[in-house]
Amino acid sequence: MKQLEEYVRSIPDFPEEGIIFRDVTSVLQDADGLQLAVDTMQDMVKDLEFDVVVGPESRGFIFGTPIAYNLKKPFVLIRKKGKLPCETVSIEYELEYGTATIEMHKDSIKQGQKILIVDDLIATGGTTEAMIRLIESLGGEVVGIVVMIELAGLKGRERLKNYRLESAICYE
Ligand code: AMP
Repeated sequence: MKQLEEYVRSIPDFPEEGIIFRDVTSVLQDADGLQLAVDTMQDMVKDLEFDVVVGPESRGFIFGTPIAYNLKKPFVLIRKKGKLPCETVSIEYELEYGTATIEMHKDSIKQGQKILIVDDLIATGGTTEAMIRLIESLGGEVVGIVVMIELAGLKGRERLKNYRLESAICYE
């Protein structure tokens, strides 16, 4: 049986020179790859107790929803600015070039709920840090973060050292 990392396609110099893009579409478009990715990530947090799974647009939706479904937990979306129809909280954060704003519905998390964040990949950890601040502003407690891929060289783990972070595949 193939290992999970064998399903990940790596594209040099995308979207710009010097970046190796870790493509998850090659995992998703293979039935065994998709199942292995979700099962592996879910297994890594099997000892955690949480109330809600939160995932960001767009690849966080792909991995977060099946984990929430399997464990019979609700799934809450974090979206880019301007997409959510009801009252939201938002946060702006730094990207390599410029800034981004992400939002959540105000009523999507209740005070004291324990939250698992699910995403496809952690690079600098900037997006995850912004998500944590958003969740905490609503009174949620982030008890874990699980991603399929960690780019260790970008030191996201250090940035998130106060949180439990699990990754199924780690690239230097
Ligand atoms: P960051 O906020 O730096 O942790 O970046 C997180 C997001 O950037 C991930 O959810 C990915 O979608 C994207 N990303 C950053 N670097 C890469 C890469 N080398 N390959 C694929 N996606 C990447």
